[in-house]
Amino acid sequence: MDKKCICQETQRHFLNQAFDSLTLKDSQQELLLSSFRETRITVPVTLYHNGENTLHTFQGYRVQHNHSRGPFKGGLRFHPDVNMGEIQALAQLMTWKTALVDIPFGGAKGGIAVDPRKLSESELEELSRRFCQKMAPIIGVHKDIPAPDIGTNPQVMAWMLDEYSKTHGYRTAIVTGKPIALGGSAGRLEATGYGVAHLAHKAATALSLVPEHSKVVIQGFGNVGSHTAIGLANKGYKIIGLSDVNGGVMNTAGISIDQALAQITEQGTLTGLAGTSPISNADLLELSCDILVPAALEATITCDNADAIQAQLIVEAANMPITHRADDQLKQRGVVVVPDLLANVGGVLASYYEWVQNLQQFPWERDTVLSRLENRLSSTYETVSILAQEKKIDLRAAAYELAIQRVEQAIRLRGF
Ligand code: NAD
Repeated sequence: MDKKCICQETQRHFLNQAFDSLTLKDSQQELLLSSFRETRITVPVTLYHNGENTLHTFQGYRVQHNHSRGPFKGGLRFHPDVNMGEIQALAQLMTWKTALVDIPFGGAKGGIAVDPRKLSESELEELSRRFCQKMAPIIGVHKDIPAPDIGTNPQVMAWMLDEYSKTHGYRTAIVTGKPIALGGSAGRLEATGYGVAHLAHKAATALSLVPEHSKVVIQGFGNVGSHTAIGLANKGYKIIGLSDVNGGVMNTAGISIDQALAQITEQGTLTGLAGTSPISNADLLELSCDILVPAALEATITCDNADAIQAQLIVEAANMPITHRADDQLKQRGVVVVPDLLANVGGVLASYYEWVQNLQQFPWERDTVLSRLENRLSSTYETVSILAQEKKIDLRAAAYELAIQRVEQAIRLRGF
């Protein structure tokens, strides 16, 4: 089964468990699972190839899953594997995340099936602007607010902000994850990893793990993985394994995060990092450690390797890195999992703060953003953890139940 199918199956499994526990009727379940609107968008762009200009037609998507609690919110992904099924699953996950962290947004996701690395900068700009033009009728500052995701970045958001503003007037709040010079928020770049580290520390403390005596392995050293590593190292944890797409590096005595960051900046890879030994990405996951943070891809922990994982705490920095069958195996062995919809919610929370600052035309200091983020993440963690203890369920089941209840209540109160 390909990874996207596994993800859809995994998410459906977790939702079904929560629906059963909340004793929701079939009709309520159907409403919660259905998208408000699913839009396919044709994006024609002229590409310069082999010495001539050729028209290419790309397939784009914007799925607006649910807006019962506020405007749709979710990223735009530029990746060759983007398809309607994947975008539907990710749009739904956004609805549960925004509800769980209790911000006034719904859930959406979008993207284009394209490999942005194969485009020149001007082609990428044209693609981004055309996509934004075509989405313009269905997005809006109080309607649907896109953000960056895999393959897109603050520059793509800047082009979209400019394109939208041509016909609607200057509207910084139309996208989040913008460059700070155009109304982006201080702290947004590091918010997801910073939040992962904060929640990992809370969950570790609940397991009586002491930072100085706890070993951490992180798979993926991009935006989320690197900021998680910085956050955990600052708290005193010993990072003994790291990896990127090219493979992993390990040192049981601890890896210098400053050196790893410097090498990534200079060479673009962790491979050959001084003072470390090489290790494959597969073996890295099975290293003897206390905390494992998958921060790269979906479905990295499956039935095939779940029983070999030695960590007692897994923090899902990536979206859907554990399949539901692997999750069952880990649960049976008493491994605690902080689920994606809680662990990486710092990203959308910081996006919410960016939107608020844009609406108020009043930028906050980085410390204000990060302390508000920390407080909200702490209270969300406490609420999830208390529910989990009361109902004797795991953190994932508790997080899904809380999120679904909030969305269901909003639908009911508004009258669907
Ligand atoms: P990124 O592109 O910045 O980094 C991805 C990292 O994973 C890189 O180090 C890359 O080399 C590595 N990687 C890629 N393929 C790999 C492989 N096969 N094996 C091991 N490592 C591999 O992406 P990111 O923004 O850090 O996102 C990482 C994950 O976190 C994704 O699942 C994303 O959906 C999720 N996420 C990101 C945010 C955010 O704010 N960036 C928010 C929520 C969730």
